[in-house]
Amino acid sequence: MTQFSPPAPAHDPIVEAVGRMVNLVFGPDRATRARTAAILLCAIMYAICCSAAYYAAEINLMRPFAPKLLWATSMPAYVLFYSLVRFGKTKHLKDPTLMLPQNVFALLAIAFAYTAIAPHDRGVVLVLIALVMVFGMYTHTPKQSVQIGVLAMLLLGLSMGILAHIDPAYYPPDLELLRFELLLGTVPTLIFSAYQISSWRNRLAAQRRDLRVALEQVQQMATHDVLTGLYNRRFMQDKLEDAVKRFDRYGERFTVVLVDLDHFKRVNDQYGHKVGDQALMAFANAAGIVLRETDIIARWGGEEFIFLLPNTNAEKALIALERLRQTLANCTVTDTVPNLRVKFSAGLAVHETVTGLNHTLERADKALYQAKSEGRDRNVTAPPDKP
Ligand code: GH3
Ligand code: MG
Ligand code: MG
Repeated sequence: MTQFSPPAPAHDPIVEAVGRMVNLVFGPDRATRARTAAILLCAIMYAICCSAAYYAAEINLMRPFAPKLLWATSMPAYVLFYSLVRFGKTKHLKDPTLMLPQNVFALLAIAFAYTAIAPHDRGVVLVLIALVMVFGMYTHTPKQSVQIGVLAMLLLGLSMGILAHIDPAYYPPDLELLRFELLLGTVPTLIFSAYQISSWRNRLAAQRRDLRVALEQVQQMATHDVLTGLYNRRFMQDKLEDAVKRFDRYGERFTVVLVDLDHFKRVNDQYGHKVGDQALMAFANAAGIVLRETDIIARWGGEEFIFLLPNTNAEKALIALERLRQTLANCTVTDTVPNLRVKFSAGLAVHETVTGLNHTLERADKALYQAKSEGRDRNVTAPPDKP
């Protein structure tokens, strides 16, 4: 039978070149790319603000040295932030985008720009504080949001106070006081909003974590048996149906083994239910050790188990079952009954003709019944199906 395979995707040299370029500039993985994109956006914003500062100096609204100093500090700072993030040096940090250092740098730059702008125009710079706080509120912890807000008020407040005292002509005290009052009237609201958003973000992240854990638990419960930790009947049913599909499509044979523990009622009756449970666990443990990783073991119900052995013929399956028998013969179920051993009967059926799953299970069940009636503690292989 010829297999259809989809054509390999065509290689477009332009698309590949753009992809390589994006990797080179933004970084090799999605998380790094998101971080470098944020940093490059900030760098562009600094470049625009510096250009505005040059223009302000030209029309005498800013001290002439200020734009040069802003440019000469912000660009190297951003080259450093970008390089550290782009080359993965911040990956292991709690703040891999370096948002906190970026925010502190921004506040210093704003405070400096404020002091360098002409007395009647410097108020516009205060708007930028809102920008810094909004930018940080999606990555900072609630505490950091408060710290950034308080630092903004302190830096600006101290600059206003000290400069109004030193140079009252360029920093008129009544105007500086007015602006400080405005700062006091607005920044605490920003701090409060940033704190709330950071707290919501934290709560949402915690809820997402809890949901993920709950989902994993539900998945575990839906597919596993609580007592033995083996897969349950529902999961095995799905795996068996998959195996049948693979057989129908690719001809991959598999063997189903139905196992029933011998005289298990007696174990419960003589030693109690708890020892019975320990015997079930001992069997599950031994089967897990003896069988291959690619074999699937499940509790089919009560003291019955089922093995799905892919690409395994009856001879190999019988060897595995003998190994399991040997292992159980040497396995102490519980120290309270040191001589107790688990024994089992098994019925095998190889799925090697196009028949339904139920038919193979019925064949295994009949073989198991035969093993029981022939005296237990043995394996019986179902006769092959006629093609
Ligand atoms: P046979 O060799 O013919 O299979 O005899 P048996 O005693 O094993 O078979 P029977 O069907 O008469 O008894 C099965 C027993 O398995 C009865 C039931 O109480 C016990 N059993 C089923 N599930 C559990 C379980 O989860 N824990 C314990 N302790 N016993 C269980
Ligand atoms: Mg039974
Ligand atoms: Mg039994």
